[in-house]
Amino acid sequence: MSRRIVFVAGHGAGDTGARGNGTTEAVETRRVVNALLRRIRGSVAYPLERNLFEDIRRNQGNWRNFFRLGDMIVEIHLNGFILKSANGTELIIRKGLRTDATNQAITNALARHFKRRRPPTGFYFKNLQNNGVFAGMGMWYCLPEICFITNANDMRIYNQNFDRIMDDLARAIGGADFIQPAPPQAPSTGNQLTHVVQRGETLESIARRHGVTVAQLAEWNGIRNPNLIKVGQRLVVRLGAPPPITPQPPAPQVPATPPAVTGQNVLQYSVHVQNRGWMQWVRERIVAGTTGLSLRLEAIRIAISNIVGGGGIRYRVHVQNVGWQDWVANGAIGGTTGRGLRAEAIQIELTGELARTHRIEYRVHVQNRGWMGWVSDGAIAGTTGQSLRMEAIEIRLVRR
Ligand SMILES: [Zn+2]
Repeated sequence: MSRRIVFVAGHGAGDTGARGNGTTEAVETRRVVNALLRRIRGSVAYPLERNLFEDIRRNQGNWRNFFRLGDMIVEIHLNGFILKSANGTELIIRKGLRTDATNQAITNALARHFKRRRPPTGFYFKNLQNNGVFAGMGMWYCLPEICFITNANDMRIYNQNFDRIMDDLARAIGGADFIQPAPPQAPSTGNQLTHVVQRGETLESIARRHGVTVAQLAEWNGIRNPNLIKVGQRLVVRLGAPPPITPQPPAPQVPATPPAVTGQNVLQYSVHVQNRGWMQWVRERIVAGTTGLSLRLEAIRIAISNIVGGGGIRYRVHVQNVGWQDWVANGAIGGTTGRGLRAEAIQIELTGELARTHRIEYRVHVQNRGWMGWVSDGAIAGTTGQSLRMEAIEIRLVRR
């Protein structure tokens, strides 16, 4: 599976982000993303006129369909602080994830130019909306804060050495796909052909036919949504482009028990998704699983940590060819793994004292149906007898 590198420019669409030294974060994150796109073969960007944070928060703009299986997401920000002396670079990674070689390379590249914050590592383990969402979807995601937009010295270095900083950063992210951007020149001729889209063709079949990738075709033709091409559309195919080699970050290790947390009655869950295995544990109100990818949920683990007053949680899963399984509790596996069976429905309920103080509410995303309504306390979410897979789930614990 080849991974598409997707850049996200932080803020935008009316949100300037931090301001300082005569510019705004929204402007600079776009400048950085454009520079990185020119330097990494096959890389793409989430539409630069949009604000991904808001799109996710409001669940608008079709963002889920944009991010696909295997994407490697790098969301660019610049830091800002009231104290203008704050300076340096850091890479934000979700709590509980381990850093990998690409994370290290990114931090090292930026630390060549800026002070490493949180010395000696330059890593900041922090839970944010977007890194939670992508962890839940099993995506590789990190967020570099390039430097401080509010610090005069950081911004002097950033502006004076911009091209070199971008070269270093692009090498770290792109690996073998790094290309030194050529100085602007007249468009070359001859080294490309035009493909006219025929009925029944997809970007994927066209890419296969010419020995290039979907990401390359999309990039060469400015295609934002690879699922939207029209019969008769003319596509540029560059010839002699070297085959893309994309870095393969190791799959994150997902522990069988939820990460330790502070706070009381903390609900966490992890789902097992077709072709992808166990996803990272997420906290309540975060979607686990995928939508728009036609991948079935196969199993789930649900746990509540630091329960006040006793009690727990139990659940049972309706599985293809099996029917309702027995109830399991407190982080045990409901559903199946390794058998290629879809989970079709689920019931969840609280037990003991916890059931007296709280309600458990949940909703599931079902094949061909989309999100179904919220249900609570042992009601069935999903379908039975209709051969429809659950694809994603969201759960919340509500005080009575
Ligand atoms: Zn920001």
